[in-house]
Parts: sequence; structure tokens; C-alpha cells
Amino acid sequence: MGVNMDQIFEQQDYYGIRLESIGGLGANLCGKMVGELAVRYLNLNSAGFSSYGSEKTGTPVKGYIRFCPPDQEIRVHSPVVNPDLLVIFHQALMRDQSVWKGCSDKTNVIIAMDQGQEEGVMQNLPNNIGCCYAVNARQIAMETKSRINVVMLGAMAKVMGFVELESARQICRDNLGRKYPSALEGNLKGLEQGYEQVQQLSETASGITGKVRDICSDNKCGAGNPGSENKNTVSVNDQEWGYATAPIGGVNPRFGSTVTADLSPSRQGYIPIFLKERCINCGLCDSTCPDMVFQFAKGTFKDREMMVNQGLDYYHCKGCMRCVDVCPVNALVRGTEAENLDKKYFLPNQDMLRTPDHYVKAGPDGYITSESYLTEKRIEGGEV
Ligand code: SF4
Ligand code: SF4
Repeated sequence: MGVNMDQIFEQQDYYGIRLESIGGLGANLCGKMVGELAVRYLNLNSAGFSSYGSEKTGTPVKGYIRFCPPDQEIRVHSPVVNPDLLVIFHQALMRDQSVWKGCSDKTNVIIAMDQGQEEGVMQNLPNNIGCCYAVNARQIAMETKSRINVVMLGAMAKVMGFVELESARQICRDNLGRKYPSALEGNLKGLEQGYEQVQQLSETASGITGKVRDICSDNKCGAGNPGSENKNTVSVNDQEWGYATAPIGGVNPRFGSTVTADLSPSRQGYIPIFLKERCINCGLCDSTCPDMVFQFAKGTFKDREMMVNQGLDYYHCKGCMRCVDVCPVNALVRGTEAENLDKKYFLPNQDMLRTPDHYVKAGPDGYITSESYLTEKRIEGGEV
């Protein structure tokens, strides 16, 4: 509680938060809880909304929340362009330059990142942002049986500096206790650990190897990033094509399709493991999976010709575990990604390989590459 809200609102009309996430990580609910928290427990006005396209797990999601004093009406309902706090729910999103749009040296940043990724993250930070913090949200969520969104909520409460942990706990009880009472205990643990474990990244060499500073009390140290004295906003060299600027007669070769997208960043640490010897080739997994993961081909099973389950295209798997739930003979079981880097039946989509538009090293929005993409043993060309 080192930050005084009155001081903030002496200098600006709103405190703006932008969440950058991937469908399935719970950013929408997180944004709602943060907005509600401000009204119920901080005596502020707040407004917020999310933008999540097709509502499909694996697609980019943005959340926007504004706080202001209780006697001020909120007249602005547009996206938060110049955030005071930027919250990145998956480190792979950092590579999408538009994520940093509008950030300046007054923007504090929280990044969900896996252990040991500090060096890569530091190298990819823009120069002119404020303090940068990291939390291993995926590991905490797995250990506490919670979700990444509550871990990030805990981290946000700590970094904002004007939210008591108990208020964050209470908003979690208000929302999740009602909807998912059996999951409340784990979610509260995840929230508390997010609050306790979020740490500031340092620009020093020791910081890169994992040593971190304490959360700074005024939240405006700007010391986490070289060049933070620069007052300019981050310049993003992205193409903004709208009705007035789009090239006439251009062709989008990937219209409305995520067929070449890599959905692995939206996984939350778990993948389905295929135990082929148990499989009876019933096809239920294939009809249940929303993302063309299962690769069936003509083959023989028990001396009969039929379509046989050859393996999984993990490029497309977003870890929803619906296939595990539906398999009648437990030929698909839940496993952790970290313990199963060598995916025995990893088979890239064979149809894709026959077209020139075969897989690109791209993430859910076609711009980013996931961390698991880099650590998984992937052999291009269809051989596993
Ligand atoms: S649901 Fe299970 S048994 Fe049926 S095809 Fe899929 S993996 Fe095999
Ligand atoms: S977990 Fe199963 S159902 Fe979900 S995307 Fe992956 S393969 Fe498909």
C-alpha cells in the first residue's frame, strides 16, 4: 500500500489498465474482478470491457479497465491506449509489438513468465517503459490448482500498490466462491502466491539471472529498464490498416482461418498424452476436439480396415482437455507439458503439409511464437 490514489488523480483523470492475453487464460474474468474490486473495496469508480474476437481459446484477448475518483463520471469507454499498468498474461505475447503500444515510462508492466526466462524477456523489453515485474503464473496455477487469472490478479494487487491483499481475496470470494465454490480454496492460494511472488526485474546482470529487487514503494522507479528516462511512448512499427488505408485489391491468403496458427501458448501447463496401445479408434476425440489436433488415416485395427488414430498435432492443441474427458478407454490422459517435452505421437497435420501454406512459426494471432514451440521437439516435414 505504498501508492496514494489521491496523488495519482491530482495528475490525471483516470488510472488505466490494459490486459494482454490469450483466450482461455481468464483475462476477461480477471478484468471484471479488478473493475468490481475498485468499486466495492477501493471507493473508486471504474469501467472496463474486454475485446476477444471469436471467443475461441487461443485467440488474442485484450482487457481494459479505468479507475477514477468516486465523484467523477466515467465518460470514456474506449480502449486504454496509454496504460498505467500493462499486464501480459503470457510471455510469448511480448513478441507482438502491438502489445506495447502506447506504453511510456509511466507504464508499469507485469509479465507472466516461466522460470529461467528472465534473460530472454529482458532482451525483448522496449526501452521506455516503467518498472517491469514478473511472476511465474503458470507454475503457481498448477501448484495451487488455480487459474492463471487469479495469480495475475494477486500480482496486480501488489504492483498497483493501493490494493490490500484482503480486498483482492474478498473479490475472489465474491466472484468465484459463488460460481465455483469447490475451486475457491485453490484460487485463493493462487491469488496469494501471485501477490507474494511477483518480483521486479532488474536491468543488472544479476537481475537477468534471476535476482530481483523488492517492489518499489512509489511504483514509479523506472529503474527496471534501461532508457526509462525517455518520456516518449513506445513506438510500434505495426501496420494499422483500416477502411481508409487498406491496400486496394489486396488478398488475405489466411482469411478467417486459424489453420496455420500455433495454439500452444494458450495451454496452461497440461497436454493430452496419447496411449496408442489402449486406443480403439472410436473417433470421439476427433469429433470433440475443437482444433483439428487428431490425425486419422486409413489403416488396420484388429484385422479390419478403418480410420486409425495416428497421433496428435500439438501445434494446434490448446490444452482444453476435452478429449481426455471424452475418451472411453483412457487412451488420452492428462500430463504436464514440462514432463512430456518428447511427445511420442506428435504428428503435424498431414493435409497441411501437402499445401504450400504449411505451418508457419506463428502464434495464435499469427505474429508470435510460443515458448513451448521452442522447447518442444518439433521436426518439420511431417516426420516424428
Ligand atoms: S477417443 Fe480415445 S479411444 Fe477413441 S479414438 Fe480417441 S484416443 Fe482412441
Ligand atoms: S486438449 Fe484435446 S480437445 Fe483440447 S485442443 Fe488439445 S487435443 Fe483438442
